[in-house]
Amino acid sequence: MVAGSVDYLKIQFDYSRRYFNEFISDRPHLKDYLKPDETPTLLIDLKGVKSRYIEIKYHLPFVKIYYAVKANDHISIISSLAELGSGFEIASTEELKKVLSFGVSPDRIISSNPIKPMDFIEYAYRHGVDRFAVDSFVEVDKISKVAKRSRVYVRIVVPNEGSEWPLSKKFGLDIDTALEVLEYAKDKGLIPYGITFHVGSQCNNYRNWFIAIKLASELWEKARRKGINLQVLNMGGGLPVRYMYEALRVEDIAYYVKGLLQKYFPKLPHEVQMEPGRGVVGDQGIMITRVIGKAKRGEEHWLYIDTGVFNGLAEALGGIRYPFYVEREGPLKEWTIGGVSCDSMDVVAKSVALPEPEVGDYVYILSAGAYTNVYASNFNGFPAPKIVAV
Ligand SMILES: *Cc1c(COP(=O)(O)O)cnc(C)c1O
Repeated sequence: MVAGSVDYLKIQFDYSRRYFNEFISDRPHLKDYLKPDETPTLLIDLKGVKSRYIEIKYHLPFVKIYYAVKANDHISIISSLAELGSGFEIASTEELKKVLSFGVSPDRIISSNPIKPMDFIEYAYRHGVDRFAVDSFVEVDKISKVAKRSRVYVRIVVPNEGSEWPLSKKFGLDIDTALEVLEYAKDKGLIPYGITFHVGSQCNNYRNWFIAIKLASELWEKARRKGINLQVLNMGGGLPVRYMYEALRVEDIAYYVKGLLQKYFPKLPHEVQMEPGRGVVGDQGIMITRVIGKAKRGEEHWLYIDTGVFNGLAEALGGIRYPFYVEREGPLKEWTIGGVSCDSMDVVAKSVALPEPEVGDYVYILSAGAYTNVYASNFNGFPAPKIVAV
């Protein structure tokens, strides 16, 4: 290393080590679970999940939280949040059954995927869920057939810049078409209920909330002038968590969002909702894996671990950069981390600074609580991670 140059490897590994040490020292109840016989294991801090929910509630006391079940549908997470009085955002019959099985009443459940299978709409409605997002005339037709008199909220398209996992291309309408869809829903006997948007998952950009709330207020006013009095503003998900960089804090987003609401919704809607998924569970889980092999290919150091993009780390493909940690000392090397399967796409991370571990060592992957086990398949015969939630 040239004297005076920046040691990026050290900065990176120090960040991960500090994160790991803080995580564990804040959570002594996890200590006994850090060296499982069976790997991969996703270790989830249930207390942490609950305190994150409480933190969001504390900073946004007038907002009703509907946990987005798809982020992590583990039963302990659902039951813990159900106990705290959380609502739930679901998109499938299986998710709905799970949530209902914990005694959550259907008036605490909403379904915000704008395009839903018909049999799911029917099932949900039969079980008392009557709030559905829409962003097309066809969806209004479907809902009006099998879920008469239910309440629909329209999804508008908002910027997703600066969100690690943008969603804006797949769903959402401009506000003029959104207004037409709300009017159409009214004509079809449904109740035009509100407006929803999603700023993009892992949203580290305040501006997206600004544009979204501003657009929503314009649509709200346009609807009012057409005699449609909406009741709900649903602000979707998007709360970010820490990965290889710090994220905006809930507290700061809440402060900013409150200011926007004061300006654009001086008279607050009857209900203001949020549907955080990642923001509740993302940094409350550690994926515990083991080294299964090492290789040097040209100048590149490869480390192979016993999970991969098909067994829980799918978001690595979309650019999520997890912090990695091993309990070793020694000079740092830059590693490419390969997944367990034979597939060449199964590469979990590049340029990861770690001291050299041995085969059999534990590799800790931080911030693995959201969009991990839910994505896992049994590809190549390797099972999804075992989940331990304590
Ligand atoms: C996935 C999803 C969420 C949760 O998003 P996060 O970024 O994980 O908070 C919320 N609402 C809808 C409609 C979603 O599809």
